[in-house]
Amino acid sequence: MQAYIGLGSNLNNPAQRLISALTALQRLPGIRLLHHSRLFSSAPVGPQDQPDFVNAVAALDCHCTPLELLHTLQALELAAGRQRIRHWGERTLDLDILLLDERRIDTPELQVPHPQMIYRAFVLLPLMDIAPNAHLPDGTALSSFLEKVTDQQLSPLTELDCNALIE
Ligand code: ATP
Ligand code: CA
Ligand code: CA
Repeated sequence: MQAYIGLGSNLNNPAQRLISALTALQRLPGIRLLHHSRLFSSAPVGPQDQPDFVNAVAALDCHCTPLELLHTLQALELAAGRQRIRHWGERTLDLDILLLDERRIDTPELQVPHPQMIYRAFVLLPLMDIAPNAHLPDGTALSSFLEKVTDQQLSPLTELDCNALIE
Protein backbone atom coordinates (compact mmCIF):
# COMPACT_ATOMS: atom_id res chain seq x y z
CA MET A 1 0.00 0.00 0.00
CA GLN A 2 1.35 3.42 -0.90
CA ALA A 3 0.54 6.16 1.59
CA TYR A 4 0.92 9.90 1.48
CA ILE A 5 1.18 11.48 4.88
CA GLY A 6 1.22 15.10 6.00
CA LEU A 7 3.64 16.21 8.70
CA GLY A 8 3.31 19.38 10.74
CA SER A 9 4.84 20.99 13.81
CA ASN A 10 4.95 24.43 15.38
CA LEU A 11 6.65 23.83 18.73
CA ASN A 12 10.20 23.19 19.94
CA ASN A 13 12.26 23.38 16.75
CA PRO A 14 9.62 22.28 14.22
CA ALA A 15 11.96 21.67 11.27
CA GLN A 16 14.10 19.33 13.35
CA ARG A 17 10.93 17.59 14.58
CA LEU A 18 9.89 16.84 11.03
CA ILE A 19 13.31 15.56 10.04
CA SER A 20 13.37 13.36 13.16
CA ALA A 21 9.90 12.04 12.33
CA LEU A 22 10.96 11.17 8.78
CA THR A 23 14.05 9.43 10.10
CA ALA A 24 11.97 7.51 12.66
CA LEU A 25 9.45 6.50 9.99
CA GLN A 26 12.01 4.99 7.71
CA ARG A 27 13.46 2.96 10.56
CA LEU A 28 10.14 1.24 11.28
CA PRO A 29 9.71 -2.32 10.13
CA GLY A 30 7.18 -2.63 7.31
CA ILE A 31 7.48 1.03 6.28
CA ARG A 32 9.73 2.48 3.61
CA LEU A 33 10.13 6.19 3.02
CA LEU A 34 9.92 6.69 -0.75
CA HIS A 35 10.00 10.48 -1.11
CA HIS A 36 9.54 13.57 0.97
CA SER A 37 8.84 17.15 0.02
CA ARG A 38 10.79 20.22 0.97
CA LEU A 39 9.89 21.74 4.31
CA PHE A 40 7.54 24.71 4.12
CA SER A 41 6.71 27.34 6.66
CA SER A 42 3.06 28.45 6.89
CA ALA A 43 0.85 30.67 9.00
CA PRO A 44 -1.39 28.70 11.38
CA VAL A 45 -4.90 27.61 10.41
CA GLY A 46 -7.21 28.07 13.39
CA PRO A 47 -6.04 30.10 16.40
CA GLN A 48 -3.67 32.83 15.15
CA ASP A 49 -1.86 33.41 18.46
CA GLN A 50 0.52 30.50 17.94
CA PRO A 51 3.84 30.09 16.09
CA ASP A 52 4.02 29.43 12.34
CA PHE A 53 3.98 25.81 11.29
CA VAL A 54 6.53 23.81 9.40
CA ASN A 55 4.89 21.30 7.05
CA ALA A 56 5.94 18.56 4.66
CA VAL A 57 4.44 15.57 2.86
CA ALA A 58 5.98 12.12 2.52
CA ALA A 59 5.26 9.07 0.40
CA LEU A 60 5.55 5.74 2.17
CA ASP A 61 5.43 2.15 1.07
CA CYS A 62 3.61 0.31 3.88
CA HIS A 63 3.21 -3.36 4.58
CA CYS A 64 0.48 -2.91 7.16
CA THR A 65 -3.24 -2.16 7.41
CA PRO A 66 -4.56 1.43 7.36
CA LEU A 67 -5.35 1.30 11.08
CA GLU A 68 -1.92 -0.09 11.88
CA LEU A 69 -0.41 2.83 9.99
CA LEU A 70 -2.61 5.31 11.89
CA HIS A 71 -1.59 3.80 15.23
CA THR A 72 2.08 3.85 14.23
CA LEU A 73 1.82 7.55 13.36
CA GLN A 74 0.01 8.25 16.64
CA ALA A 75 2.78 6.47 18.56
CA LEU A 76 5.33 8.76 16.87
CA GLU A 77 3.24 11.81 17.82
CA LEU A 78 3.17 10.66 21.43
CA ALA A 79 6.90 9.98 21.41
CA ALA A 80 7.39 13.59 20.26
CA GLY A 81 5.56 14.69 23.39
CA ARG A 82 2.34 15.62 21.66
CA GLN A 83 -0.36 16.93 23.93
CA ARG A 84 -3.79 18.06 22.87
CA ILE A 85 -3.85 21.70 23.93
CA ARG A 86 -6.71 23.11 21.84
CA HIS A 87 -8.45 22.35 18.55
CA TRP A 88 -6.16 23.15 15.60
CA GLY A 89 -3.75 24.56 18.15
CA GLU A 90 -0.03 24.23 18.67
CA ARG A 91 1.58 20.80 18.59
CA THR A 92 5.03 19.26 18.57
CA LEU A 93 4.08 16.80 15.84
CA ASP A 94 0.99 16.08 13.74
CA LEU A 95 1.02 13.16 11.33
CA ASP A 96 -2.06 12.82 9.11
CA ILE A 97 -2.82 10.12 6.57
CA LEU A 98 -3.72 11.94 3.34
CA LEU A 99 -4.11 9.20 0.73
CA LEU A 100 -3.87 5.40 0.71
CA ASP A 101 -3.68 4.11 -2.85
CA GLU A 102 -7.14 4.65 -4.36
CA ARG A 103 -8.95 3.78 -1.14
CA ARG A 104 -11.79 5.54 0.54
CA ILE A 105 -12.20 4.95 4.28
CA ASP A 106 -14.96 6.57 6.29
CA THR A 107 -14.97 5.42 9.90
CA PRO A 108 -14.98 7.55 13.07
CA GLU A 109 -11.33 6.72 13.68
CA LEU A 110 -9.99 7.14 10.16
CA GLN A 111 -11.12 9.03 7.08
CA VAL A 112 -9.14 8.74 3.86
CA PRO A 113 -8.63 10.79 1.75
CA HIS A 114 -8.10 13.27 4.58
CA PRO A 115 -11.30 15.38 4.39
CA GLN A 116 -9.49 18.71 4.85
CA MET A 117 -6.57 18.14 2.50
CA ILE A 118 -8.13 19.83 -0.54
CA TYR A 119 -8.58 23.08 1.39
CA ARG A 120 -5.02 23.32 2.69
CA ALA A 121 -2.11 24.87 0.82
CA PHE A 122 0.25 23.40 3.45
CA VAL A 123 -0.80 19.94 2.25
CA LEU A 124 -1.34 20.55 -1.48
CA LEU A 125 1.89 22.44 -2.23
CA PRO A 126 4.26 19.97 -0.54
CA LEU A 127 2.31 17.13 -2.17
CA MET A 128 2.90 18.71 -5.60
CA ASP A 129 6.64 18.63 -4.82
CA ILE A 130 6.68 14.84 -4.81
CA ALA A 131 3.48 13.81 -6.64
CA PRO A 132 2.31 16.42 -9.17
CA ASN A 133 -0.14 13.89 -10.63
CA ALA A 134 -1.68 12.81 -7.32
CA HIS A 135 -5.44 12.47 -7.45
CA LEU A 136 -8.46 11.57 -5.36
CA PRO A 137 -9.98 8.08 -5.71
CA ASP A 138 -12.56 9.49 -8.17
CA GLY A 139 -9.73 10.67 -10.42
CA THR A 140 -9.90 14.40 -9.61
CA ALA A 141 -6.39 15.86 -9.84
CA LEU A 142 -5.32 17.35 -6.53
CA SER A 143 -3.57 20.11 -8.48
CA SER A 144 -7.06 21.36 -9.43
CA PHE A 145 -7.58 22.55 -5.85
CA LEU A 146 -4.44 24.72 -5.80
CA GLU A 147 -6.07 27.80 -7.27
CA LYS A 148 -8.52 27.94 -4.36
CA VAL A 149 -5.74 28.18 -1.76
CA THR A 150 -3.56 30.90 -3.27
CA ASP A 151 -4.42 33.21 -0.37
CA GLN A 152 -2.60 30.88 2.04
CA GLN A 153 1.04 31.93 2.20
CA LEU A 154 3.64 29.19 2.19
CA SER A 155 7.40 29.45 1.80
CA PRO A 156 10.01 26.73 1.34
CA LEU A 157 12.18 26.62 4.41
CA THR A 158 15.46 25.13 3.28
CA GLU A 159 17.14 23.70 0.26
CA LEU A 160 16.97 20.32 1.95
CA ASP A 161 17.80 17.74 -0.69
CA CYS A 162 14.64 15.73 -1.31
CA ASN A 163 16.64 12.51 -1.20
CA ALA A 164 18.73 13.48 1.79
CA LEU A 165 16.92 11.16 4.18
CA ILE A 166 16.32 8.24 1.86
CA GLU A 167 18.80 5.42 2.15
P1 ATP B 1 -7.31 17.76 11.21
O1 ATP B 1 -7.85 16.37 11.09
O2 ATP B 1 -8.28 18.84 10.83
O3 ATP B 1 -5.99 17.93 10.50
P2 ATP B 1 -5.96 17.43 13.72
O4 ATP B 1 -4.84 16.84 12.90
O5 ATP B 1 -5.60 18.53 14.65
O6 ATP B 1 -7.09 17.99 12.76
P3 ATP B 1 -5.98 15.32 15.59
O7 ATP B 1 -6.27 15.78 16.96
O8 ATP B 1 -4.52 15.11 15.23
O9 ATP B 1 -6.66 16.29 14.53
O10 ATP B 1 -6.69 13.94 15.28
C1 ATP B 1 -7.99 13.67 15.74
C2 ATP B 1 -8.41 12.29 15.25
O11 ATP B 1 -8.54 12.27 13.83
C3 ATP B 1 -7.46 11.17 15.51
O12 ATP B 1 -7.66 10.63 16.78
C4 ATP B 1 -7.77 10.15 14.39
O13 ATP B 1 -8.47 9.01 14.88
C5 ATP B 1 -8.69 10.92 13.48
N1 ATP B 1 -8.41 10.77 12.04
C6 ATP B 1 -9.39 10.56 11.11
N2 ATP B 1 -8.88 10.48 9.88
C7 ATP B 1 -7.53 10.66 10.01
C8 ATP B 1 -6.48 10.67 9.06
N3 ATP B 1 -6.70 10.52 7.75
N4 ATP B 1 -5.20 10.86 9.54
C9 ATP B 1 -4.99 11.04 10.88
N5 ATP B 1 -5.97 11.03 11.83
C10 ATP B 1 -7.23 10.84 11.40
CA1 CA C 1 -3.86 17.66 10.98
CA1 CA D 1 -3.84 14.77 13.07
